[in-house]
Amino acid sequence: MRILLIGPPGTGKGTQADRIKSRLGIPHISSGDILRATVSEGAPLGKQADDYMSQGLLVPDNLVIEIIMERILQPDARVGYLLDGFPRTRPQAEALDLALERSNFQIDHVLKIEVPDEQIIIRTIGRRIDPVTNKIYHIKFNPPPPEIADRVIQRSDDDGETLKRRLIKFHEDTSPIIDFYDQRGLLRKIPGIGTMAEVQNRIWASMGK
Ligand code: AMP
Repeated sequence: MRILLIGPPGTGKGTQADRIKSRLGIPHISSGDILRATVSEGAPLGKQADDYMSQGLLVPDNLVIEIIMERILQPDARVGYLLDGFPRTRPQAEALDLALERSNFQIDHVLKIEVPDEQIIIRTIGRRIDPVTNKIYHIKFNPPPPEIADRVIQRSDDDGETLKRRLIKFHEDTSPIIDFYDQRGLLRKIPGIGTMAEVQNRIWASMGK
C-alpha cells in the first residue's frame, strides 16, 4: 500500500506514522528526517538544504525530488510506503506521479491531518526530541522521563517565529497539491484534535479498515 501523509509540523503526524507503519508493515519515509540526516552527515547536498531548513523555507524541488526518488526505489519500499512530508509542492507531486506511472504503481490514500494553526503553535513550542532514540516528547503533554530530561533538545526550527513562517509556507505550498489529490478522490481529511488513539481510529476508518 502507498500512502501519503500530509500535515504541518505539530499535528502528531510522527506518532501516527509509527502506528501506521507497524500495522501495515511498510516503511515510514519522512522527507524531513532524510533531509536532517543528510545535513548531519555534512554532505554538500546537506549544506545546501540546511540553508533553507534553518530559515523555515522549503528546500528546492530538484534537491528533495532526487533524495526521495532514490529512497522509494530501495528494496524495503517495494511492498509500499508511508510517505510523510513529500510531496509538498505541485512539481514534487508530478515527479512522484511520473515515477509511480513508470513502475505501474499508484497512491492508495492521501491522509491530511488537520489541526488549527493556534493549536499547532502551542504543541510545537513545547516539543522536545531525545537525540539518542529520536523519540518525541512535549514538556507539558508528554514530558520525557526524568532520567533523560537533561538530554532532550528543541529542534532549531521549532521556535515561535520560524514555526509561524513554516506554517504560512506550508499552507501556501500545499494547497495546490491538496486539490490535485482531492480531484482524484484520494484525499482523506482527518481531524487531528483529540487523543492519539482517537486520531488513529479516524485514520483507519478513512481507509475503510
Ligand atoms: P518536516 O520535518 O517535515 O517539518 O521538515 C523540516 C524541513 O525540511 C522543512 O521546513 C523544509 O525546510 C524541509 N522539507 C521537508 N520536506 C520537504 C519537501 N517535501 N520539500 C521541501 N522541503 C522539505
